[in-house]
Amino acid sequence: MSISENQGRLWAISEVSKRTPRVIGNGRKASEYFGCNTFNQKVMAEKLPKAIYRSLLATIRAGKKLDQSIAPAVAHAVKEWALEEGATHYSHWFQPNTGITAEKHDTFLTVGDEGQPLERFDASQLIQSEPDASSFPSGGLRATFEARGYTAWDPSTPIFIMDSPNGKTLCIPSVFISYFGQALDKKTPLLRSDEFLSANAMKVLKIFGNNAARVFSTLGPEQEYFLIDEAFYSLRPDLVATGRTLIGAKPPKGQELEDQYFGAIKHRILAFMQEVEHELFKLGVPVKTRHNEVAPSQYEMAPVFESVSVATDHNQLAMELFKVVAKRHELTFLIHEKPFAGINGSGKHNNWSMATDEGENLLEPGATPEKNLQFLVFLLATMKGVYKHQGLLRAAIAGSGNDHRLGANEAPPAIISVFLGEALTNILDNIEAGKVKGSTSEKQVISLGVSKLPEIAKDNTDRNRTSPFAFTGNKFEFRAVASSVSTATPMATLNAAVGEALSEMADRLTARLKKVKDFDKAVLEVLKEYVVETKDIRFEGNGYSDEWRDEAAKRGLLNLAKSPEALLQLKTKEAKALFTKSGVYKADELESRYHLEIERYIKDLEIEVAALKDIALTQVLPAAYAHQAALVAAVKDLTSIIGEGAVASAQFEEVKSVASLIADLKAALTALDHAVEKAETDNLDKKASAFAYAVSDAMLVVRDVCDKLETVVDDKLWPLPKYREMLFLV
Ligand code: ADP
Ligand code: MG
Repeated sequence: MSISENQGRLWAISEVSKRTPRVIGNGRKASEYFGCNTFNQKVMAEKLPKAIYRSLLATIRAGKKLDQSIAPAVAHAVKEWALEEGATHYSHWFQPNTGITAEKHDTFLTVGDEGQPLERFDASQLIQSEPDASSFPSGGLRATFEARGYTAWDPSTPIFIMDSPNGKTLCIPSVFISYFGQALDKKTPLLRSDEFLSANAMKVLKIFGNNAARVFSTLGPEQEYFLIDEAFYSLRPDLVATGRTLIGAKPPKGQELEDQYFGAIKHRILAFMQEVEHELFKLGVPVKTRHNEVAPSQYEMAPVFESVSVATDHNQLAMELFKVVAKRHELTFLIHEKPFAGINGSGKHNNWSMATDEGENLLEPGATPEKNLQFLVFLLATMKGVYKHQGLLRAAIAGSGNDHRLGANEAPPAIISVFLGEALTNILDNIEAGKVKGSTSEKQVISLGVSKLPEIAKDNTDRNRTSPFAFTGNKFEFRAVASSVSTATPMATLNAAVGEALSEMADRLTARLKKVKDFDKAVLEVLKEYVVETKDIRFEGNGYSDEWRDEAAKRGLLNLAKSPEALLQLKTKEAKALFTKSGVYKADELESRYHLEIERYIKDLEIEVAALKDIALTQVLPAAYAHQAALVAAVKDLTSIIGEGAVASAQFEEVKSVASLIADLKAALTALDHAVEKAETDNLDKKASAFAYAVSDAMLVVRDVCDKLETVVDDKLWPLPKYREMLFLV
């Protein structure tokens, strides 16, 4: 057989060896073109009458609804700008529950009264559009309500123009809601959560005499991802169908040499990163850092943080553009949480904080003792929210991909806990004990402990990589978030949880201040209660250890190892109470969210099973048979010459061992079929659980045999690119 017919893998290796970095010749300063494809403040100022410009800016800054009376003028300005920039179409760009973005394009072109062609775009087109909602997952909302939904402009994030090879499209960031007002997307609950957080944070700020007009949650999502050559990707049906390799033997070298993290970036990869940054800069996405991650072929990008709404949109845009630009470089962007077994998977560390409209970071220790008391109040409210709603935070990061990552020795465990670092821990301990180094007055706690906060908290670099939720100086880092998902759901959940805790905090502070006249003393007393109440969520040690698992169980913390049990948290009374109170989800939306997620989980696994069987039956088995046939022929030839002595029998053993691996594979596939049959039931919880455990285990057995075969079958016969190639040849 010739190589070109049968050896795609060798073709791929030869393709990859010919690749060179793609050059785009961009030498411009980023500041010269940053945001040039957005309807930004500068464009607004140029294109809008002053009064309207101010009104629009106020709408955006305050996170308010658009004043309808200015919509026509805004639409006109948007149209003028878009046409000048060469856009031919416009689209409401939104984030349905698929987790990716959706867009439906309409042209500006219309025919005028006299039959003349002209471009039109009015206020109603800016504000609202009506895609057919019936083809997006709604988790059952459709069954009870009408299928129709509409998208509505969300002015909290900038309108932008998307470049494509043969034209440009004006994209209007939008929310997607049903005619009865239910959220059909991920963005609406996020916006609601931010409002809820803001309202309650302001209650607390008022107590501190702070008159901020609005509080925003802020987000800087560090995005991890893999890149492999597209020739390899095209030969891996598992990657194409599921985003991860379902089989693949361990390469001789993995990540054990620890030579990849922060290592020199290969030129071909750097060329990709530079182009993607160039594209993102045009869209006003403030990409800040790029580096190699721990696993071979794994990388990370981090932007400068922004308000949670903008950061969420920007992360979606980044994920999309990474995919598009990778293709130009003949690379494939892998965003799955665990594309390769045996090496690290990818996460999306959500750096989160709260800031006032004046830019004061509420999780930044301040310059004065009063500011530090305020800081501690926000810190402890955050801890309270995380403690109380640990189950919902776990549910918010559930998904088939993250199941492979959480709890493996590389990513935060599935147990949610909070890491504070030594300095803050000491301060909280002092507050609890009501003393600092033997001194006992509150004033001393404040002057010796609290007022030193800025220095020590900044110095708090002893980062604990094993913590799912870590304080890192002036923000929390929610590390357990999955790499491929939208940041909207985890952030909406966190905002809701912390918003609720802030509301309770405000009530308790107010009540205490009525009884205790000394402000500092009153605040410290309340803080002390919170320190005691939240103690069990604090954990500074190694989150990967078995001791922690046992200790967490003793403390009553939840350990929800896989998605089906994590998602059940959405059905609890507490979930309903939190989400309806905060307005983040109405009761029916919450129910639909549960259905969406559990259905998605099952579908993911069904696709994986189908892809695995396909590969095993049509690629692995034929390769194994071909190998066996060659061995059999060789042994026959040999025995015909030398007879059946010891030498021939050694080779015969090899035939037997390949034959028995083939038999094992067939048995494993049958067992997989049985597990899938057994999993079949109308009860979605049970079905998801069966897939998470029995079916997943059966898949692992299939994988195990395939991987054994990969290590014995003649390399020339093996059709699938191997780990050693995909991960190391670029
Ligand atoms: P590391 O990898 O050391 O955790 P990075 O520099 O890669 O740190 O990422 C830190 C992220 O935290 C950046 O995206 C940064 O913008 C973000 N960040 C910094 N301050 C805040 C804040 N106040 N709120 C939200 N995110 C923040
Ligand atoms: Mg990082």
